[in-house]
Amino acid sequence: MTPSSPGTDQHRDQDGALPPKRVLLAKPRGYCAGVDRAVETVERALETYGAPVYVRKEIVHNRHVVETLQERGAIFVDETDEVPEGALVVFSAHGVSPAVHEQAAERKLRTIDATCPLVTKVHKEAQRFARDDYDILLIGHEGHEEVEGTAGEAPEHIQLVDTAEDVDKVVVRDPSKVIWLSQTTLSVDETLERVDQLKQRFPLLQAPPSDDICYATQNRQVAVKTMAPECDLVLVVGSTNSSNSKRLVEVALQAGARASYLIDYAREIDETWLDGVRTVGVTSGASVPDVLVMQVLDYLAERGWGQVEEITTANEKIAFSLPKELRRDLVR
Ligand code: SF4
Repeated sequence: MTPSSPGTDQHRDQDGALPPKRVLLAKPRGYCAGVDRAVETVERALETYGAPVYVRKEIVHNRHVVETLQERGAIFVDETDEVPEGALVVFSAHGVSPAVHEQAAERKLRTIDATCPLVTKVHKEAQRFARDDYDILLIGHEGHEEVEGTAGEAPEHIQLVDTAEDVDKVVVRDPSKVIWLSQTTLSVDETLERVDQLKQRFPLLQAPPSDDICYATQNRQVAVKTMAPECDLVLVVGSTNSSNSKRLVEVALQAGARASYLIDYAREIDETWLDGVRTVGVTSGASVPDVLVMQVLDYLAERGWGQVEEITTANEKIAFSLPKELRRDLVR
């Protein structure tokens, strides 16, 4: 992840003086509306129904969030068959396939669906285009929970396209009836590249009715792209299983940051990363509480990077209401 080692000499002005050490802090960063809603869903479910509350998969892809909810009584499971019959289970922000809903119903589980409404939107597109008998090319990362959920809406119509090699493997029934959809948390640029490759094979390929890559993913990438050219180092706070966080590291490097690393906590920063660095960029993935970013800023301030400048490229005002299954039972 380090294309070249940041040196100091290149920073000196004509008189040989070094510029001040500073931090550029991306805005927007951190929690998106879907994550906020999913985390609050588990918190409110614990308050309303008491522990334990089972959660299928990590509610959002963040170690700190998962560990904090575990301490409060949430039990994270991989599949619904690990949940005792009749118990309460929350489905994560990444969404689930209809098969998972069916398994839960068979086991008489009480369910709360915390799927992000923007993921549900992609599920509905998949249902609609499958109904109209399209071949659907789903651009996304193999094995990601969101992709498994979306593909499960219409497995007989959907083919996953992850890598450039996958483009060559696609087989469609009617090249005039093909549409692409995507995972919500991809790199915008890489997705457009994949679409171009697909279009070379299928010139009549149709695009989704509206962007599938969500506003939060796009906004965080734009903010990083804006600040990265000025940064010797970009620290992205996020977990290794968080797709949108990993994309921020890639975007930072592509946009000109000399180095970029993904860290869950400030304590994971390696002091050597700061050698010769004047400007540090800081951002965080959509599942990261801001307290973790503040700890990174404290770490940097203690080492001389106390000057923080926020780089704002958008102001987000989106909020989603809690799942209806929970709203009707809320303790007020
Ligand atoms: S990253 Fe986007 S799709 Fe995922 S939970 Fe947040 S708003 Fe929803």
